[in-house]
Amino acid sequence: MLPRSVAAGWLVVCDFDGTIANIDVTDGILSRFALPEWVDVEVEWKAGAIGSRECMRRQVELLRVARPELDAYLDTIEIDPGFAAFVADCRRQQLPLVVISDGIDYAIRRILQRHGLGDLPLASNRLVQTGDDSYRLEFPDSDPQCRAGSGTCKCAVSASRAHGSKRLLIGDGSSDFCLAASADLVFAKTKLLKHCRDNCLPHHACPDFGVALQLLKQLDVPVRSPIALKRTWKAAHPPAPPAAAMEI
Ligand SMILES: [Mg+2]
Repeated sequence: MLPRSVAAGWLVVCDFDGTIANIDVTDGILSRFALPEWVDVEVEWKAGAIGSRECMRRQVELLRVARPELDAYLDTIEIDPGFAAFVADCRRQQLPLVVISDGIDYAIRRILQRHGLGDLPLASNRLVQTGDDSYRLEFPDSDPQCRAGSGTCKCAVSASRAHGSKRLLIGDGSSDFCLAASADLVFAKTKLLKHCRDNCLPHHACPDFGVALQLLKQLDVPVRSPIALKRTWKAAHPPAPPAAAMEI
């Protein structure tokens, strides 16, 4: 157990798909149970023609799956084996943790419950069943100002729950890019790690929650500002001299 002072003053914000869950659960659901047109919507989103909120709304309306079949799939999904211990450590330190996801709340809650973590605070898009095998998505935590056009605005939700605390983001992908720019620190893997490196955002590489548990001990170690990081990077990578000035 860490001394409380180490962790005081932070809110931990965890992404779900690809971070807590080992896979993108939303993609898993759509690829198994949605009408084929869901791929066309995905193409529009990847091309930047629509935001993730519009994308998810249309894709979920293409689902055709009865609840027992959906549940049977969700019950096969594993989470990072170190996540439960990470949550327990946060609780020991009275370090608040919230799962904020632009995925599907029903899926996340069911998976977390199966791992004994159903009581974690969660903000995500709300799945509503509209027929035996059909659904729609609602967006209780969207924000009209959301720059990413997300169904769940991670920036707005985390800001409203931080109550002045610093924000630590743990994530992996493009749904985390926006919050990564304003978070005080990021534990990042895969695409988010490259994004943090490319944009000189304060971060630690964090491939799993076993590493995250160790990194918690560094929460109160001063992290260099993005500007300082940028200066350091520039000093290490001076621009090449103009061709005209090069000696031949
Ligand atoms: Mg993710």
